Amino acid sequence: MAKIFCVANQKGGVGKTTTAVNLAASLASQGQRVLLIDLDPQGNATMGSGVDKAACENTVYEVLVDGVSLVDARVKSEAVSYDVVPANRELAGAEVELVGMENRERQLKEAIAHVVSDYDFVLIDCPPALSLLTLNGLCAAHGVVIPMQCEYFALEGLSDLINTIKQVHANLNRDLKVIGLLRVMFDPRITLQQQVSEQLKEHFGDKVFDVVIPRNVRLAEAPSYGLPGVVFDRASRGAQAYVQFGAEMIERVRLL
Ligand code: ATP
Ligand code: MG
Repeated sequence: MAKIFCVANQKGGVGKTTTAVNLAASLASQGQRVLLIDLDPQGNATMGSGVDKAACENTVYEVLVDGVSLVDARVKSEAVSYDVVPANRELAGAEVELVGMENRERQLKEAIAHVVSDYDFVLIDCPPALSLLTLNGLCAAHGVVIPMQCEYFALEGLSDLINTIKQVHANLNRDLKVIGLLRVMFDPRITLQQQVSEQLKEHFGDKVFDVVIPRNVRLAEAPSYGLPGVVFDRASRGAQAYVQFGAEMIERVRLL
């Protein structure tokens, strides 16, 4: 039975998608069966996994709104060793269409239930908003991985996200936990980043993952080749950090 994790942070451009695709690739390279669900109309996780978002017959939109099975929406990407449920801009309309539906926040959970035994990990790349789409992700998941840059305003946004997770836990999904905070795009030469990193550890203790993802240009280049950094240049510092992060996730999940 798969463990299901959202990669979420309502702040934009903090490294959610980079984390989702590289964690998927890292886990797959360590023998795990992985499904990556793109829950963002931008479709970056889709393209970053080598799947053409414009050429998909079914996407997560059809799953959420039309009740199409994940079995018919998942795609085996040749470029990576995990399955992808693609998204494209059509998904932006799902927000509105879901509002009128019964169990609107549980559509993704119900869809995943049919494929849980096919995978060890299901990862969900959330959009940069605390929207109904993200809520579907949080309702479906056992836990949340929160990537964050160690900058001043990062901590402010974090309390909104943690409050949302607490509310979902209290009202909609008793399984939901914060699995951990992942420090990404880290540059140890910047004093402020070191300070924020220390503050994070003081406040959140062992909820902060040990692995730190450095700022690394190979991770930023990889999506233009339709590949996660871990596949594009596994030897690079950024990719190696995500390989280690995969190992840390496997270890944490064992303790869940
Ligand atoms: P959005 O909120 O728009 O979905 P996001 O949180 O998914 O954004 P990403 O798309 O993963 O963020 O990353 C934002 C940008 O930063 C991208 O151009 C990505 O390539 C780059 N980036 C992410 N992580 C790193 C890193 N460790 N080193 C260098 N560049 C990075
Ligand atoms: Mg993204």
